[in-house]
Amino acid sequence: MENINAIITQAHEAYRLYKNLHKNEIADFLEAIGQSGKEAENDLVETAMEETHLAKPRLQGELQRTVNQTKFFAEMVRNGSWVNVIIDTADNNRQPPKPDLRQMQIPLGVVGVFGASNFPFAYSVAGGDTISALAAGCPVVYKLNPGHPETSKKVAEIMTKVITTLGLPTATFAMLEGQDYETGAQLVSHPLIKAIGFTGSFKGGKALYDTAAKRNEPIPFYAEMGSVNPVFILPQMLNQKSAELAEALLISNQASLGQFCTNPGVILSELSADQKSFEDHFRTLIQKSSSGKMLANNIAQNYTKGIEALKQLGANDVGQGMGDEGELFGMPEMLTISADASLKNPELLHEVFGPGSLHVAAQNKEELIKVAANLEGQLTATIWGTDEDMKDYKELLDILIEKAGRLIFNGVPTGVEVTPAMVHGGPFPATTDSRSTSVGTTAIYRFTRPVCLQNFPDHLLPEALQHDNPLKIIRSVNGSYTDSNG
Ligand code: NAP
Repeated sequence: MENINAIITQAHEAYRLYKNLHKNEIADFLEAIGQSGKEAENDLVETAMEETHLAKPRLQGELQRTVNQTKFFAEMVRNGSWVNVIIDTADNNRQPPKPDLRQMQIPLGVVGVFGASNFPFAYSVAGGDTISALAAGCPVVYKLNPGHPETSKKVAEIMTKVITTLGLPTATFAMLEGQDYETGAQLVSHPLIKAIGFTGSFKGGKALYDTAAKRNEPIPFYAEMGSVNPVFILPQMLNQKSAELAEALLISNQASLGQFCTNPGVILSELSADQKSFEDHFRTLIQKSSSGKMLANNIAQNYTKGIEALKQLGANDVGQGMGDEGELFGMPEMLTISADASLKNPELLHEVFGPGSLHVAAQNKEELIKVAANLEGQLTATIWGTDEDMKDYKELLDILIEKAGRLIFNGVPTGVEVTPAMVHGGPFPATTDSRSTSVGTTAIYRFTRPVCLQNFPDHLLPEALQHDNPLKIIRSVNGSYTDSNG
């Protein structure tokens, strides 16, 4: 049994040293993690293939993305501007005199991270949560995901080796290997943990969020959970491209057997001859799609149960893929339902993780917009429409902006670019905090807070706040003085 308390206490001690490293040392550390991961690519990919049944090119791509992510964060740390310096200069002529105020972002402390089974690299041990926390100056205690234990241990070993080689505080990174819910519960409950980054199912994320809510000291809890990523196809687009659309959406929906959090699981349109032709085309493609081994037995079982539950709620099973069935296997499935039924039973629009596709048909535009307004929070929402369509459906766009972290126009939601502008997040239940993203450089701000230093002499200020720092933003505003202490 691991001594979780000792591991977290050591990480907290490491925090005092790690947060004060020079930014170039942290950047070198992140780059070295990426480089060592790349050097071990063959072994890591082979191990992940065995454990997750994901295809080699998919895993190679994911590893490369993870490596690029470390470079991306390293570059940002080296540049230093992420600390968002704001300086309000003093004015001694004002009555009362205005103080010199200098604000910057600082790390929160030790971060607990939970990775997902479907991303053994990019959302796991050295994935986005871990790297953004380390970039901010926060040590990480990572909870192993039982979906890929050997892959995780190998990545953790690489990280430990890099830490030793660079002479960094040993406890800057640690992994908890317990494969039980109690380990996770202890991690989120520990008083020295100052934030949580979670990627996984709604059930897991919400259970841990509720556990964290019982802490004496509240902490930010960033859970990135599931989503059905609704796709709205508007009438003229359907008329012009129904076959092309069916192909594009089928490929996106069946990629890695639908085991992506951005999988377009629900497709919505209005009843028409074009819509029927789209569905017929999609059904033909589903029937040609192959079943395959899912990530794990429990994931395959949950998928089958999820499809059964949709049928119990009235969805029609109109098409099935082909190939092996049974333990571990996931079979592509196409289901249809009326918009009215989905309005009466919102459970129909909950994520069924796997290669299923639910098609929702509305009687008219008003009903389609009603379904949109009734949607829960999503990671993504997609609209396929022509310019003419968009003139008639401004209200739909307006509603979907309220619902999702990322909106896609005439494209597919799978494939998440790691860039500064990316938002991988969204309103609950897609996440537990819609004000953040788990992908892209701004993910760092989940693990920082602002601090203001007032009237400090230059030599006592952190480097970023000193007078000759070229990155400072000076706001020589008058300010407004208040007598109250607020
Ligand atoms: P999961 O079953 O929720 O597991 C994630 C982690 O949560 C594991 O470490 C698991 O630990 C822990 N956990 C689960 N239930 C728990 C509970 N009741 N109490 C304490 N800990 C608990 O998710 P997964 O199967 O790994 O991943 C698939 C899901 O992740 C899908 O829903 C997918 O959409 C979502 N996902 C989301 C994103 C995103 O960015 N939003 C990305 C990828 C995947 P143990 O099992 O060891 O206890």
